[in-house]
Amino acid sequence: MPTLFEKIIAGDLPANIVFRDDRVTAFLDIRPAAPVHILIVPNKVIATANDVADEDEALIGHMFILARDLARANGIDADGYRLVVNCNAHGGQEVYHLHMHLLGGKPLGPMVLRK
Ligand code: 5GP
Repeated sequence: MPTLFEKIIAGDLPANIVFRDDRVTAFLDIRPAAPVHILIVPNKVIATANDVADEDEALIGHMFILARDLARANGIDADGYRLVVNCNAHGGQEVYHLHMHLLGGKPLGPMVLRK
């Protein structure tokens, strides 16, 4: 069964795509948690952060460089933003196709709330 993100990458499911090349696709999150909420997704299927292979090093770097560029393009680079990759159940991962969240446009507060 292809994941939702495979369908978006293949063009079989609509999404607001903001960037695409031969290695990655970036689109707006359907339930934004911040004024800017973009998902940066490798076109290649990698289920979780656990499944990143040594050969994916350049691809993962490419995702980071794109996050930097999209932050700048969305005017959130100076104020700041958050990059998030959730992994498996304890990480709160919903879609099992590796993705990086780019969140910004408002103060996001501490990521981990401590009691
Ligand atoms: P995760 O919890 O796996 O790190 O994040 C999955 C993200 O995908 C969630 O923020 C969720 O809102 C987003 N999402 C789920 N289904 C869709 C969809 O069909 N289209 C888009 N654009 N985003 C989706």
